[in-house]
Amino acid sequence: MANKTAANKLNIAGAWYCTDSEDSNGEGCIACGLCYGAAPEFFREDDQGNAYVWKQPVTDAEISLCQEQLDDCPVSSIGKDA
Ligand code: SF4
Repeated sequence: MANKTAANKLNIAGAWYCTDSEDSNGEGCIACGLCYGAAPEFFREDDQGNAYVWKQPVTDAEISLCQEQLDDCPVSSIGKDA
């Protein structure tokens, strides 16, 4: 589950983030590869295969693409500030 206090330290600063696999609830990224496979301009993998936000989306199309990844993440570990 998205948890900004346990965000991956490689996330670029901004509203969107990925939750680290070491999230204290054990509910962070499971390195499934979905988000950085589908939207590599915005999500990348660290050396353990866990996702982080590489670039913050700006345009409506970019935000829509990132929202799809947020909605599809199997463990809901992608988050964004309200
Ligand atoms: S979709 Fe979710 S679980 Fe899969 S790599 Fe991205 S953040 Fe991690």
